[in-house]
Amino acid sequence: MEVRLAKSAGFCFGVKRAVEQVYNQAENGKAIYTYGPIIHNEEVVKDLEQKGVSVIDDDSLSSVKEGTVIIRSHGVEKAVCDRIQEMGLECVDATCPFVKRIHRVVEKESTAGKQIIIIGSANHPEVIGIMGWSSTPAIVIETEEEAEKFTLEEEKDICVVSQTTFNYIKFNKIVEKLLKKGYNVGVVNTICNATEERQTEAREIAREADVMIVIGGKHSSNTRKLYEICAKECEHTYFIQTLADLKLELPESVGLVGITAGASTPNNIIEEVQNYVRINF
Ligand code: SF4
Repeated sequence: MEVRLAKSAGFCFGVKRAVEQVYNQAENGKAIYTYGPIIHNEEVVKDLEQKGVSVIDDDSLSSVKEGTVIIRSHGVEKAVCDRIQEMGLECVDATCPFVKRIHRVVEKESTAGKQIIIIGSANHPEVIGIMGWSSTPAIVIETEEEAEKFTLEEEKDICVVSQTTFNYIKFNKIVEKLLKKGYNVGVVNTICNATEERQTEAREIAREADVMIVIGGKHSSNTRKLYEICAKECEHTYFIQTLADLKLELPESVGLVGITAGASTPNNIIEEVQNYVRINF
């Protein structure tokens, strides 16, 4: 029986990099804070807590007197970075380089007088962060209807960027609508394909697999999506949080067991499941 683990299972490049930075900082013995949970995974947040890493938010930041504040991969508004530094704290910026690129584009183009449009969800932390790098108020557009209704009050060139996890097809449709309005629109495609690659690979493996295991948090929407994709292709698809949940009932003849995991699933959990399946079946 073959066990095939998806190469794209678990943390993407940006999250992996941010989590590693927190663990590295935690070794210094100084007070360490993350601005918001570093990832949406309770096990990892708990483990970090035991290593002296606390989670803070905008309100609790005011009570921090010393130490290091780490910015998570989503990034934050420029004002947050400035505030941390003004408070005399050390700021370690673990913003994903793909998100950082958007901050730089937005800062430059807004300073040059362009109207920034962000295609994404206005209440997503990454989008809130991006907005905070524009020197003039940015506009967020999430749907085609919103793009249809959009008008600019003053004559200005437009610079369009996107939330990194936005759907590419929807992005193109919104951009098309904006282009039709006759404005001078410059489009920077800032979509990151980590999520899409993870989904495509999961679909391909599930198509061939007799049993498919999807690992990730119960409340993680990207893991649920992975599960739905796999379940469509493979009748015996399991959704588990950790190895403890795995109660495999294998069909009679199993040639291939596929494994994938959501974006916030740490490597040790993936490996545990993988080793267990390899050894026991
Ligand atoms: Fe991960 Fe891509 Fe987001 Fe970076 S931009 S954190 S690589 S999903």
